[in-house]
Amino acid sequence: MNAVLPNHADVVVIGGGIIGCSTAYHLARDHNLNVVLLEQNRLTSGSTWHAAGLVGQLRSSASITQVLKYSVDLYKKLEAETGLQTGWKMTGCLRLATNQDRWIEYRRLATTAQSFGMDMHLLSPAEVKKMWPLLDVSDLIGASFLPTDGQASPSDITQALAKGARMHGAKLIEGVRVSGFNMSANRISAVHTNLGMITCGKVVNCAGMWARQIGAMAGVVVPLQPVKHQYVITEKLKGLSADAATIRDPDLRTYFKEEVGGLVFGGYEPDPIPWTEGDVPATFEFQLFEDDFDHFEQHMSAALQRIPALADCGVKKMINGPESFTPDGNFILGKSPECANMFVGAGFNAFG
Ligand SMILES: Cc1cc2nc3c(=O)[nH]c(=O)nc-3n(C[C@H](O)[C@H](O)[C@H](O)COP(=O)(O)OP(=O)(O)OC[C@H]3O[C@@H](n4cnc5c(N)ncnc54)[C@H](O)[C@@H]3O)c2cc1C
Repeated sequence: MNAVLPNHADVVVIGGGIIGCSTAYHLARDHNLNVVLLEQNRLTSGSTWHAAGLVGQLRSSASITQVLKYSVDLYKKLEAETGLQTGWKMTGCLRLATNQDRWIEYRRLATTAQSFGMDMHLLSPAEVKKMWPLLDVSDLIGASFLPTDGQASPSDITQALAKGARMHGAKLIEGVRVSGFNMSANRISAVHTNLGMITCGKVVNCAGMWARQIGAMAGVVVPLQPVKHQYVITEKLKGLSADAATIRDPDLRTYFKEEVGGLVFGGYEPDPIPWTEGDVPATFEFQLFEDDFDHFEQHMSAALQRIPALADCGVKKMINGPESFTPDGNFILGKSPECANMFVGAGFNAFG
């Protein structure tokens, strides 16, 4: 049966990834608005379905920390509200420091954490070793530990948010591709789709790596670039505890999390590989790129340095998917300067 497009919405949300579903959920729950979410393919089918699922809260920016802390509080409550699991597991997160600058950064963060009511601990290398025996701590100055960080399933969170949005009255319609806007002065008055037109009061552009293209349809510049981002999932790793804390090792540019007895690990390389320079195809749905173990080698070496036991552990799977990165590494959130009623939520830089 073909979906039917309503004639009008107070707000049209474009994109059914985690950001679009969260936006629809909050607008419907907190503002009692008539919300319609349009997804060109299926919910989660862009970048969301293959995210690793690390969830951290503390950043050097106070406002970003507040947003991230709110997310964790929401993940804890969402299952009770919707009946759908989110995979939320509060393992805590260890951030490793191998130099004085990093250590000073963590000491500052510990103060910031206190001001947000978060109990962040600074640990010695010996304490880190006790908590995570498989880690090589010989080069560490110390680590920070935030017990309330953790991991979740991005697809499950998205489905829970989608269900919550529907429970609060939003309409989420899959298989509807936005192709343009009716503009009057610098306002959008209607959204064009393959199923016809829908008039609206506001548009929220949550189209992930397509957000640049959607923005351009309304004269809005959304500076982001899809980049290939990889992680591997290992076989079971002997000695790894099921509730092991997630690890961020910024000096080696890697991250780790436990998953069914094995490890998920990946990283941020200084020479990332951009994907397309032109438009992202609309048909890119639940797709990945070819494994690129040559490019991943830098993360593999770093991971082996940090967890030597990985040398005897097989790789079960590699995930190589696209994620949007922005020039300054910050996400793009808020009202666009160019169009009076387009808002943007995109470019999340595998934020974690
Ligand atoms: C390998 C990898 C690991 C990652 N790990 C983590 C992690 O551990 N923690 C973390 O926080 N993040 C992580 N990320 C990043 C995370 O996946 C993304 O930031 C997040 O999923 C982006 O969600 P989104 O809703 O903005 O985009 P998407 O999920 O891509 O959703 C955008 C949606 O918009 C739809 N759309 C586009 N154009 C149109 C149109 N014209 N009409 C209608 N619909 C349209 C698309 O079909 C798509 O479904 C990772 C990413 C990768 C690639």
